[in-house]
Formats: sequence, structure tokens, C-alpha cells
Amino acid sequence: MTKEKKQECLVCKATSDEMPIINFEFKGQSYHICSAHIPILIHKAQDLRSILPDIMDSVE
Ligand SMILES: [Zn+2]
Repeated sequence: MTKEKKQECLVCKATSDEMPIINFEFKGQSYHICSAHIPILIHKAQDLRSILPDIMDSVE
């Protein structure tokens, strides 16, 4: 049985049909994020704490 996991942005659930989706890993888990939310991942990673528990506080 092949269960295809839909690659969708962990923030807005956009799929690669709608947006470019980037794959990244955190604590050995694979996640996906769309191009619109990559800046959040880079600059405001703490905003993702509700989605990615244990994410490090970024240094201001
Ligand atoms: Zn998104």
C-alpha cells in the first residue's frame, strides 16, 4: 500500500500545486513550508513554536 503524503505548508497548508514548497528537517522530522512562509522560518522562527515545539529562540 502506497500512502502518498501530501506535501503542504505547515503554516497555511498550501500544496505544491499552489505554491513552491520547500522541504526541511527539524529534529529528524520532515516538514514542508511554502515560499510565502520561508521568511517566517528564517526571521521569526519563534512564531512557529506552536507548530514546531522546542524550536530555538532566535537571537534578536
Ligand atoms: Zn505557507
